[in-house]
Amino acid sequence: MSCIFCRIASAEIPAEVVAQDGNALAFLDIAPLADGHTVVVPRRHVATLEEMPPAEIEALFRMVAHLSGPVRRAVGAAGSTIGVNNGAATGQTIPHVHVHIVPRWDDDGAGSVHTIFRPGSRRPVGEVGKEIRKALA
Ligand code: AMP
Ligand code: ZN
Repeated sequence: MSCIFCRIASAEIPAEVVAQDGNALAFLDIAPLADGHTVVVPRRHVATLEEMPPAEIEALFRMVAHLSGPVRRAVGAAGSTIGVNNGAATGQTIPHVHVHIVPRWDDDGAGSVHTIFRPGSRRPVGEVGKEIRKALA
């Protein structure tokens, strides 16, 4: 088993685990972007959210919701940025789904999720909305 998060989930390698249940596991990031930076992973190896059945996604995000308040309170944060790098093109370095919970403070100098992206001209939203509704059908 070469996936580092699978190895953590099976307790083959250590991690600072803060919560776990039959479906998901939460542990502190080894290279934290802020105190309390936590990653929440499904126990089952899966690379992207699209590959997960709804019940597994629900269990994963239930743990994220369960943790966001306690993580924040534990480090005295004012908020948290919660995000998923979903696919290699987004900068996902470990191909096992993980949700980052990164505590934030008013003066921490980090930007919002908007700062990841370059502004620029885009296709009209009405056109794109039509494509997405078509893809959903
Ligand atoms: P991403 O760039 O979204 O794939 O994030 C992967 C995250 O996993 C990074 O923030 C790493 O610091 C973190 N990470 C890598 N190896 C470990 C590990 N052994 N224990 C905890 N976190 C890890
Ligand atoms: Zn894995």
